Amino acid sequence: METFDVLVIGGGHAGCEAAAASARLGVRTALVTHNPATIGAMSCNPAIGGLGKGHLVREIDALDGIMGRAADAAGIQFRLLNRRKGPAVQGPRAQADRKRYAAAIQQLLRETPNLTILAGAVDTLALKDRRIMGAVLADGRTLRAGAVVLTTGTFLAGVIHRGEEQTPAGRVGEPPALKLAHFLRSLALPMGRLKTGTPARLDGRTIDWAALELQPDDDEPALFSFLSTTAPLPQVPCYATRTTLATHAIIRENIHRAPMYAGRIEGVGPRYCPSVEDKIMRFGDREGHQIFLEPEGLDDPTIYPNGISTSLPVAVQAAFLKTIPGLEQAHILQPGYAIEYDYVDPRALSPALDVKGMAGLYLAGQINGTTGYEEAAAQGLIAGVNAARFAGGTDPFHLDRATSYIGVMLDDLTTQGAREPYRMFTSRAEYRLRLRADNADQRLTPLGLDLGLVQRPRAQAFAEKQQALASARALTERLRLTPPQAAAHGITVNQDGIVRSAFDLLRFPHVTWAHLQGIWQELGAVPPKLRDQIAIDALYASYVQRQENDVAALRRDEQLTLPHDLDFGAIAGLSNEVRERLTQARPTTLGAAARIPGVTPAAVSALLAFVKRKAA
Ligand code: FAD
Repeated sequence: METFDVLVIGGGHAGCEAAAASARLGVRTALVTHNPATIGAMSCNPAIGGLGKGHLVREIDALDGIMGRAADAAGIQFRLLNRRKGPAVQGPRAQADRKRYAAAIQQLLRETPNLTILAGAVDTLALKDRRIMGAVLADGRTLRAGAVVLTTGTFLAGVIHRGEEQTPAGRVGEPPALKLAHFLRSLALPMGRLKTGTPARLDGRTIDWAALELQPDDDEPALFSFLSTTAPLPQVPCYATRTTLATHAIIRENIHRAPMYAGRIEGVGPRYCPSVEDKIMRFGDREGHQIFLEPEGLDDPTIYPNGISTSLPVAVQAAFLKTIPGLEQAHILQPGYAIEYDYVDPRALSPALDVKGMAGLYLAGQINGTTGYEEAAAQGLIAGVNAARFAGGTDPFHLDRATSYIGVMLDDLTTQGAREPYRMFTSRAEYRLRLRADNADQRLTPLGLDLGLVQRPRAQAFAEKQQALASARALTERLRLTPPQAAAHGITVNQDGIVRSAFDLLRFPHVTWAHLQGIWQELGAVPPKLRDQIAIDALYASYVQRQENDVAALRRDEQLTLPHDLDFGAIAGLSNEVRERLTQARPTTLGAAARIPGVTPAAVSALLAFVKRKAA
């Protein structure tokens, strides 16, 4: 019987980060997955990042995770989304070469010490007195482990729907995890069904590209990893087209054949990634819906038509595609489909991602009701770290809402659950002016270093960057102008007698680095990346200071631990609804209680007063 400290089940985006993180902490880790050749597979669109998601990738990278490096290695079109908005809400995104992305992930895992990769299907978990002991595979092998991270994605009791057809599967062409789903249900975990979908894949050689609108890549690629310096692959354009009234008519005529509308799917789908049939039925008055035609690889003719995921019958898919400009002759390589699968209500987990009351069992990724590679990877990293710490007898590692988007997601999931597939957005983060993609390394790499999670190359690069940044920042604070001196250089400021540093002046929208360099030549020696960082820091300095004060106040009360046996029913001044919600969620801190939907500020004050009175 093979024995490991940590066993990760599933080689998707959550499983890969979990296994890599656990192994980086120096514990013996095994990743067991159906087919190691599919490790790092992108089940749906071949792209990483986007609004909110790009922040997650940078945070994973700051903690020395692998997703950002793989996306940079495989990126064939980089775009910074929301470029015209403030830097806090800009999202790096890359179209990836599907095969090269998976190859890059597999290579990074192969290079990770302490990690063994095994092929196998896990049927059940070995448990003793509600403590995890390992896993039992379909071929009869038992793998013993001090902790287990379960990252089964869309595979738990997965069913693919296409029109009237239903096929048990985890992804197209791959079997579902039926026995494991059955086993988890037998543990009486709170479980439900969710669904997601994907569009038909098209043969790019049969698309009329000349008729389509070009979507060029950025001149200067915004890379994900703080360690990357260039995008190694050639960059390719994407194209855009739209659905037409004829497309909508075909979909409406056949809507009764869509499994969702025919009542064959009970799971809730992703609100922010609706199927084309949902778009037509919900926003029917629109003349057309945009479709991005995204290449799946440099040496692969497959095109992913982003925006028309569908579970209509294959013949209907073929018919509606013909009504879309540029796709009239397009040949379908693989029809679209919807998939329905089991998930575990993440309120059953602590923010460390362990199942409450089941020592050593961690869940991460789509199994927790999220959607998207980035959300899965970020949870995987946290679950991997905490599983390794549990196996080694150390306290869990937590990230809170004030430090990271990862913390926002963990808190949202474990306090509010996921009634529909959860995806990240910048609007979910109340401290988004601090939690920027550009400063993820400064926020998180020091925490990763303390944990022992960051390997030497990054530790060294980070130390060098911090030193260079500190001296460049000090320079911008040393160089100063009085208001009349500023005016003499064409910089309009209040004539209030305040002497302003170059850093202060960068806050003014009309002042650029080039402008200041015209006054102080020594600023020309600062490398461009650091200039951008300092300019963004200057832009947000006063807002960030205000948020720092809010965070300090929040931390004081938020950290307050609520007793395990707290009787929420005994707190005077709470409505029955609030009592019920608190009793159901059983938050472990005051902060977690405050974020439960329906728990009002007045209820939080009553709770705070009650707990303080009890403790006195
Ligand atoms: P996965 O990437 O699904 O990986 C699960 C892994 O676990 C696989 O390697 C599998 O082989 C392995 N596994 C499962 N059970 C076992 C077992 N018992 N034993 C051993 N190995 C096991 N996301 C979006 O953001 N937008 C979308 O529009 C979107 N559409 C999607 C459409 C489809 C059809 C699918 C399948 C997914 C879609 N996704 C979408 C979701 C995205 O693919 C997932 O969020 C992401 O891949 C989840 O990562 P994961 O690591 O949790 O699981």
